[in-house]
This record gives sequence, structure tokens and C-alpha cells, in this order.
Amino acid sequence: MQASIGGDAFKNWIDPLVFDGIENAVARFTVPTSFMGNWVSRNYGDAILHLFSVEETHVERLEFNAAANRSTPAKPASKAPETPSVQEKELPSSPLDDRFTFDGFVVGKPNELAHAAARRVAEGGPVSFNPLFLYGGVGLGKTHLMHAIAHEIQARDPKARVLYISAEQFMHRFVQALRFKDMYTFKELFRSVDVLMVDDVQFIAGKNSTQDEFFHTFNALIENNKQIVISADRAPGEIDGLEERIRSRLQCGLVVDLHPTDYELRLGILHSKAEAQILQNPGVEMDPKVLEFLAHRISSNVRVLEGALIRLIAFSSLVGREITLDMAQECLADILRSSERKVTIDEIQRKVADHYNLRMSDLLSARRARAVARPRQVAMFLSKMLTSKSLPEIGRKFGGRDHTTVIHAVKRIEELKLSDYQIAEDVELLRRMLEA
Ligand code: ADP
Ligand code: MG
Repeated sequence: MQASIGGDAFKNWIDPLVFDGIENAVARFTVPTSFMGNWVSRNYGDAILHLFSVEETHVERLEFNAAANRSTPAKPASKAPETPSVQEKELPSSPLDDRFTFDGFVVGKPNELAHAAARRVAEGGPVSFNPLFLYGGVGLGKTHLMHAIAHEIQARDPKARVLYISAEQFMHRFVQALRFKDMYTFKELFRSVDVLMVDDVQFIAGKNSTQDEFFHTFNALIENNKQIVISADRAPGEIDGLEERIRSRLQCGLVVDLHPTDYELRLGILHSKAEAQILQNPGVEMDPKVLEFLAHRISSNVRVLEGALIRLIAFSSLVGREITLDMAQECLADILRSSERKVTIDEIQRKVADHYNLRMSDLLSARRARAVARPRQVAMFLSKMLTSKSLPEIGRKFGGRDHTTVIHAVKRIEELKLSDYQIAEDVELLRRMLEA
């Protein structure tokens, strides 16, 4: 058995079984709790039966009998260490990040609904949507919003019992409770809260006994009108291995998604985080163009964006250098490479030529007429912003021009974006098309 299920599982589930014997083809075991008996029966029953047959012992059925009914609070002191009662016991909440507040959360189109729903839940009052189910890709702010809810509820009512826990921790505690025969405390604890938040619930998909326990906790709280907030990386309907009854329960409340960030939101987040960082690192100076550059180039995930910013500021304060575009490109080369867009210079040239009704040959020609030169500069600017090609490489792609010409083009378009509304709009439109 140990060889087939592994040492840990064996120690947790099989080792505690006491074999009582076989009678009328029924093998009997004593287990510490009936809960555990059910679990072993469901998960390892077939394997145990199989082993009996390998040993040529005729067994048709297994029976697990709980040694003592542990679902009563009074327990013999000899068997388990003294545990404080639930009410005295600290909530086993996972730690909350102090920075993950509503104040620190930048709202934009992609997350405004999730933010509004989170706010509503945090305001307390009559429970309006239960559960609140937040979902979205990695690094889009699910955990941030959940912590913000917890902070806010706690601030409004310090006595409120708010329990925030990752689904993984939930499972871990559940398994520990089984192992140390302390299901009573576990159940009481989770049923005694005012607000339960479970983060990354997709983790328990396929983990059947944890799902079972989660389902019961969930129902008990909903029945008592306690608020539940859940997050996942996908919509309830898309989580494979999630029991149907849990899925439909999750869909009963409000399901909102956090969309991938857009450029404006990323820029907003960068401004807000840069401000906070610079307050802590006086003397660091940041060219605002760098933030635009980062918002353009790192679109995957806010965590990566933030990491890039922190690295730049740390670097700048260590070596005492101003944060410029060049410095950022050098210092973040690895991050930029890995979040590189698929946009190529060829594509940029084609889109720009289309947009201005030019032929490609004109765009790449030596002609200096404004009607050709300006679109060419726009294309160079976009090549610098959207690809990680070096200035000389860009120059070469534009009919073998010198890198100083590219520098000039980038500068010129940056200036014009501020003074010429039409250029600003063209650049923005092209960028959107290329990034789509
Ligand atoms: P998730 O749980 O969705 O994977 P997190 O909540 O952990 O993502 O967010 C990752 C990082 O990005 C955190 O540092 C968080 O503060 C930050 N973040 C995400 N969205 C926002 C936002 N709208 N405003 C400010 N910070 C954000
Ligand atoms: Mg998270």
C-alpha cells in the first residue's frame, strides 16, 4: 500500500487504521474518526480490496468503525493536546498585505465592476450577493481586492470575524484536522466566522473530500446569512473537476470577472505605485516616459509590471542614476524579452502605410516630403515602443537609415503627441490595432 500511494498519504490515512479481523468476507478496521473512515473507504477502498485479493484472502467488503465519536467537544485529554475553544482561538486567517487596500487599488474599465462589487460587500449591511465570486487571470488584482474587503470590514467593525484563506491552506488545514483527529474544531472554526474568503478556489477542484467539506462549510454559512467571497482563475463553469452542486452554488451569487488590463489602467497603476515608491526613495527621479514605455511593453500581468518598477527604483537609488528610457531598457532586458509582443517592424510598417495611404516603398524611401516623412517617423516611434529591436536595427529596417535618425524620429513624435492632436490620435489608433 505504501509503495502505491506514497509515504505521506500512507502515514496520514493508512497507518492510523487498526485491523480488527475478517468475518463473513467483511474486513473490519477501527479508525480514529468516522470522517476519516469515509475518506479512506472512498479513496483507498478499492486499493485495499485489491491487496486482499493479491494475498488470496477472500474479502468482499470493508467496514470502518470509528473508535470514539469525536464530534462531541469533550475529548479525553490523553489523546489530543489541549486546544483552546473556538471563540478564544485566533482565526487562522492567512496574513493580509497592508498595501492591498481600496485606496491602493486603481480602478479602470477592466476592473470597475469587480471593484464596485467588492466595495459593496465591504460596506457590510444586508448581504446582497452571496457568494461574491471574483475571477480573472493571474496578477489582475483578485487577491488585492479580497484583502481590501477584509481590511475594510475589519476597520468598520473590529469585532467582525473575517477569515481570509487560500483554498490550498483550507485543504491543508482540513487534512491536518483529519490527521490530528480534530474535525470538530475545524468545522466549528469555519462555521463561526462572519465573513469567509477563500482565494484561488480552483485549487480544490478534483480534491473530492476537501470539496465536500468546503461545500458543507459554504452551505452552513450561507444559511446563516454570512458573507462569502471566493476567487478563482476561471469562471465557475470552466473549472474542471468541480462538483456540479458546488458549481451551481457558486453561480447563485454574483459572478464578476477582472478583464485583462488595458494600457490606460496599466499606466494608472504605474503612476500610483511609482508615487508610493518614490516617497520611500527620496532622490529618485523618474522620467514619465518610462512609465508609458512600461505600460506599453509589459501587458501580461500587474505583478510583473510592479516588479519592473521596483527594480528600476532600486537600481536608480543604488547607483544614483536617473531613470531614463535607455536605462530602463537596459535594466529590464530580461523582463522585456519575456513579455515581448509578437509585433514586428514589418507589421508596423504595413499598418502605418495603410493608415496613411502610402505604399511601403514610399515609407522606406529616401523621400523627405512631410507627407511621407511624418508617417515614417510614426512607424519608427512605434517600432521603438512596441518591439525590443535596437535603434540601429530599426534604422536598418527603414531603408538602411542611421540610428540617430531613429532617435530623432522618436523625439519628434513624443513632442508632437503633446502638441498635435491628430498625431496623438493616429499613434494611439495604430498602437491599439497593432496590439489587438
Ligand atoms: P491575483 O490575485 O489576481 O493573481 P494580485 O491581487 O495578487 O493578483 O495582484 C498582483 C499585484 O498587482 C499586487 O501587487 C496588486 O497590488 C497589483 N495590482 C493588481 N491590480 C491592481 C490595481 N487595479 N491597482 C493597484 N494594484 C494592482
Ligand atoms: Mg491571487
